[in-house]
Amino acid sequence: VSTLAKEFRRTVRGMRDLMANEAESLRFIEQKTREVSKLYGYEEVITPLVEHYELLAAKLGEDNRKRMYVFEDLGGRKVALRPEFTASIARLVATKMQSIPRPLRLFSVGSLYRYDEPQFGRFREFWQANYELFGSDKPEADAEILALTANLMRDIGLRDYSFKVGHVGVLRGVLNQEGVAEDQQNRIMDLLDKKQWDSALEEVRKSGASTDCMETLSSLFEVKGREPVSISERMGEVVKGYSKAEAAAANLREILTLFEESGLETDVVVEARFARGLEYYTGMIFEIYAPGLDIALGGGGRYDKLIEMFGGEQVPAVGVAPGLDRLLLALQNQGRGLQVSKEQRILIIPVDSTMLGKALKISSMLRQEGLPVELETMGRSVKKALADADRRGNTHAVIVGPKEMKDNKIVLRHMKSRTQDIVALNELSEKLRQ
Ligand code: AMP
Repeated sequence: VSTLAKEFRRTVRGMRDLMANEAESLRFIEQKTREVSKLYGYEEVITPLVEHYELLAAKLGEDNRKRMYVFEDLGGRKVALRPEFTASIARLVATKMQSIPRPLRLFSVGSLYRYDEPQFGRFREFWQANYELFGSDKPEADAEILALTANLMRDIGLRDYSFKVGHVGVLRGVLNQEGVAEDQQNRIMDLLDKKQWDSALEEVRKSGASTDCMETLSSLFEVKGREPVSISERMGEVVKGYSKAEAAAANLREILTLFEESGLETDVVVEARFARGLEYYTGMIFEIYAPGLDIALGGGGRYDKLIEMFGGEQVPAVGVAPGLDRLLLALQNQGRGLQVSKEQRILIIPVDSTMLGKALKISSMLRQEGLPVELETMGRSVKKALADADRRGNTHAVIVGPKEMKDNKIVLRHMKSRTQDIVALNELSEKLRQ
């Protein structure tokens, strides 16, 4: 027998095994994302992990396009593992869901694949939830996405977090009026996303923008603060004369006012120079941060032109994508245990092999009542089985022996208090529920 070479016994770089407690934590957060989707009326759809390369590549920024897992399937199709949900959802909205009345609220959760450089909080396979609201260009739709996100943070038990908020329309409004070409604008936004403010300004200058514009942008880049409404007003003042940019600042003010009124108290930092990498954003954009972690826990915004790009009619859209792995890191960082309910775990121990049949029958009976049961399957003595039950954190042991079974009874042992009672079978499930 040849043994597998050592390097193949490790996971592929950037890929992880989630061990039982990690898997449980991730599923807990996933469940919370699903509960929130229901609270806000977002319907879950499940789209494939493998899509046409061209669909996924269509509207990704250059950097993300290069990071896709691309391959040819056996039929010679060029396919890729999804690096985001949005392209698949846009495909649905532009095709199968074209004639469904708006608004359309959709939810997805699952794993995504990006050939990123692995580091803290960054993996090549990671988990995301995705909420998207189609059909409304109104500020209440944007405010709903912010509220839903704040609601999710609260429900998973994250105490300390903040939203960083900006508006692509303010920056693009200025650049459009200056006649800066779209691809140049994209480059500028990309530099801003990478926090290279000076290079971004340099790029604007190279595009032939007026000195007025340069001054406007330089002062705009300084506008930042924690009073959402007055900061968005300030943005409007700085871009006076650029009508689209002024309207965008007014839109941001409305969104943030509505969000404030929804009463989900959230620390909001408005930052005028904030941009997000993907090219399809058109309006409000935001990211979620937790203190002590300088990676975003999630991000979102408005993208009114996306569906058009996938061949549909124009459908306004706003959405958010929280990263589950990072939410987990933030919770751990804030020392928050997950409120995963600690259920009962019952071990059934037959005292010898003649009692196996009875033990199996009792197991089935309890499971039918919805109680989680493990059967002693190693042929161990009662003493050894009990020691093992202790080690594994079983809450109860049911010992099945011939003496008690004669009267249709068993021994119920409470692992924590190390006490035991003789209990009639027909009272067992009731006793276990106490
Ligand atoms: P994006 O789809 O790029 O807007 O990212 C939204 C969220 O997904 C981020 O804020 C992260 O929480 C999460 N995310 C993105 N890329 C990764 C990655 N490589 N590893 C872990 N989480 C990620």
